[in-house]
Amino acid sequence: VSTGKVLLDVRELSKAFRGVQALDGVTLQVFEGEILGLLGPNGSGKSTFINVVSGHFPATGGQMFFEGRQLAGLEAHSIAQAGIARTYQIPRPFAHLSVLQNVSLVAMFGGAALNHEQATAEAWKWLAFTGLQDKADALPDDLNLHQRKFLELTRALASRPRLVLLDEVLSGLTPGEINEAITLIRKIRDRGATIVFVEHVMRAVMALADRVAVLNHGKLIAVGPAQEVMKNADVVSAYLGT
Ligand code: ADP
Ligand code: MG
Repeated sequence: VSTGKVLLDVRELSKAFRGVQALDGVTLQVFEGEILGLLGPNGSGKSTFINVVSGHFPATGGQMFFEGRQLAGLEAHSIAQAGIARTYQIPRPFAHLSVLQNVSLVAMFGGAALNHEQATAEAWKWLAFTGLQDKADALPDDLNLHQRKFLELTRALASRPRLVLLDEVLSGLTPGEINEAITLIRKIRDRGATIVFVEHVMRAVMALADRVAVLNHGKLIAVGPAQEVMKNADVVSAYLGT
């Protein structure tokens, strides 16, 4: 599990959209090797956290360090190359490319550069890992929801990240598919990655998270073991909307 070493160090991170403070001075450390669940009601800033840390949007304030290196101000591709991968809440594969090509492309450009042959081999490896190898030649539109979510996950893994940010990869899956995904997420951690996952499926949060962090209106209101945090009065009232 956690080595006690801070992998991602986020300090006073803020993101304002016109009129909305989506992240409001969030300070949070993610330890190497842990699985951290990021929780909070709808609109509390969870996806924005992933979007800002991955460089999809620039922060409007604060700092973020990955292995001591400042990420604020870096473009998304530089952050990906530094070793951070993310999934999108709504999967966004390249619609005109096959499943294999979608994964190969990330393998080629997402992390350390690989040539075409190396990237294809890497893609096959990750498709086998997530169980999508039979779908290698399919187009994304031909996949069901479970397969699309797993393709999104496979693409994130293909850049060989040290930190994986997952945005609701389990939503809409059947209980059996959720179990499969829980096993897979544990395997991803066991291979050495650190994971931050946004999830509403509480069973999965309880099964996976070493710690949880809770956002409400862009502020971090609690962090710690799930059993304790879910009893925290501020967390309960955030979920009840009081
Ligand atoms: P969550 O993922 O926790 O449901 P989000 O991070 O998506 O919440 O959103 C937090 C707040 O920021 C919401 O009020 C949302 O409307 C706003 N927001 C998120 N993304 C954008 C954007 N691209 N433009 C404007 N407002 C946004
Ligand atoms: Mg979201």
